[in-house]
Amino acid sequence: MKIKVGAATDTGLVRESNEDAYLSEPPLYAVADGMGGHRGGEVASALALETLGEGFKKEGAEGVAGTVQRANEAIYERGSRDREVAGMGTTLTVAVTGEDSLHLVHVGDSRAYLYRDGELKPLTEDHTMVQEMVNEGSLTREAARNHPQRSVLTRALGIGDDIELDDLEVGVRPGDRILLCTDGLTATVPDARVAELLSDNKDPQAAAEKLVEAANDAGGVDNTTVVVLDVEEGV
Ligand code: MN
Repeated sequence: MKIKVGAATDTGLVRESNEDAYLSEPPLYAVADGMGGHRGGEVASALALETLGEGFKKEGAEGVAGTVQRANEAIYERGSRDREVAGMGTTLTVAVTGEDSLHLVHVGDSRAYLYRDGELKPLTEDHTMVQEMVNEGSLTREAARNHPQRSVLTRALGIGDDIELDDLEVGVRPGDRILLCTDGLTATVPDARVAELLSDNKDPQAAAEKLVEAANDAGGVDNTTVVVLDVEEGV
């Protein structure tokens, strides 16, 4: 199968800098949403993607989980020794496209979705306090969307010297669309609207740009990053 890619990132209308970042080096794709004072967020997301890209060149798809572990160590180590970026961290959602599958490695509240036959289905689970409450049944999905503490993460890269990763394999086929995005999109644009925009914009680059635009139309309170991967027939 063949992948056609679209990607867009934007600072939004409120933040002063863009701490999000994405990577598109076929067959490796990722989004990262950095956090931390001063330049910490930018440094963390950039360091995560840089470590990931370099590791992939050496070790390929099998090495991705190990590479993400090393990215965690690199961010943690830098944050411990450099006061300018102390306490920085980042989310990371990685997708590696294979023959007829997608390998996902994920930490934090950026997301991967599968858009198939007009339906948008989440492939990842947020590592947030509110998601834990949803899982326990003490909060509904809808209430979680608007919860004041919805961005409090339970897992992120760079916070400790060890990290638990979600590592999963998903079957894909021609016609499928994979969406990788940061919470700048999902916190402001409802899934139904995201699905509508994916349906209306057949070109992945146009779709990525429209999704970022929708987040900005909804206030642009956060950085927003979107990667759209269209699975097509062929090599
Ligand atoms: Mn964000």
